Amino acid sequence: MEINILAFAIPLFVFFIGLEYYLSLRMERKVHHFADSVTNMGVGIAERLSDLYVSSLFFYVFDFIQRNFGLFTIKQNAWTFILLFLATDFLWYWYHRFAHEINLFWGVHVVHHQSDEFNYTVAARITVFQALVRGAFWCVLPLLGFSAEMITALLLIHGAYPFFTHTRLVGKLGWLEYIFVTPSHHRVHHASNELYLDKNYGDVLIIWDKLFGTFIEETEEPVYGLTKPLKSYSFLWQHFHFLLEIALSVKKTPGFIPKLKVIFGRPANFDPHVRGELEAIFIAQHPEVVVSHRMRSYILGQLVVVSLLLFFLILWDQYWPLPLQAGGGVFIVLSLINIGAILEKKTWVLYLEYARLCSLILTAYALTNNPWWLLTLNLASVVILFTSNYLRRQYVHWVYNEAR
Ligand SMILES: [Zn+2]
Ligand SMILES: [Zn+2]
Repeated sequence: MEINILAFAIPLFVFFIGLEYYLSLRMERKVHHFADSVTNMGVGIAERLSDLYVSSLFFYVFDFIQRNFGLFTIKQNAWTFILLFLATDFLWYWYHRFAHEINLFWGVHVVHHQSDEFNYTVAARITVFQALVRGAFWCVLPLLGFSAEMITALLLIHGAYPFFTHTRLVGKLGWLEYIFVTPSHHRVHHASNELYLDKNYGDVLIIWDKLFGTFIEETEEPVYGLTKPLKSYSFLWQHFHFLLEIALSVKKTPGFIPKLKVIFGRPANFDPHVRGELEAIFIAQHPEVVVSHRMRSYILGQLVVVSLLLFFLILWDQYWPLPLQAGGGVFIVLSLINIGAILEKKTWVLYLEYARLCSLILTAYALTNNPWWLLTLNLASVVILFTSNYLRRQYVHWVYNEAR
């Protein structure tokens, strides 16, 4: 039975996140915040899920480009792998720089920068759209003549390295600071200090920043997160807020060229008031949400279930029947939205719980074709409809420890 080794990224990342948490306790340094870390991991789970489909899609795209449009035929050996590594890292620098300097790309990359903390969970916080945009940038590699097999193998290493630069527990690393992107360099990149804005874009090598004038050393304590903090744990809002801000700004801007300038302009020049208008429509901001013990257990339980589900979905990806793949994916996404809604103590979360139940029963029906599952769904729907007020009160009492 063939397995997909990408699945092991999940237990490996969980191990290092746990190790960092343990070490931070030993060092008596608080570098984690429960709601923030959980949200980061939720975004990471969604990214791994989307990557399951996107990475295999890009393998065929890379292969097609190299076979039909490759400028050179590059053979596999140690030297060409070094060349590929340099080309990948160089492309990453420009992908990352554009992601910070062009509104449309910032709308995708912003999710990685929303966390007010800086630890390994932030490394997992990669938006589901990033794989698409980044993959499009990497199409240059097969165009040069690198094979899809070489690119995929290298991206595994290139993808793992930046995980380890997201930590506050590692100080400066001596001579390595001159060549590689270190935790110190990447702390600067995630900081919102005026001095540190739009600096240190490198992924593995820091030489590109030094070459193109975007390097700065860590000299003052970084303050992490966006210059205008998001203050929301909503999974959907985190993913779509800046894209919606662009859409609203385009709508309000007269003229074709000015509209293009909104889309491809610099985030630094973007009208900061647009967010407020959208927040008034879409989200109610909470100050600091107090996470009760039960809320914490329920959220962690859901995180464990979706992580295990995703692990097995990826591990045996070619063997699962389509209804299970689709049903599993829907259940994971609904659970992630659910976790965000619970962190914000929404009462409409009950509808999400109902949707999750529907996704499970419908998956069971699609797998077995047994009409009893549909009858079960109908019965459950009727019971929930007639007892919704009672269920909502019980849910709020049980999960949030509140009476509403
Ligand atoms: Zn960035
Ligand atoms: Zn980062």
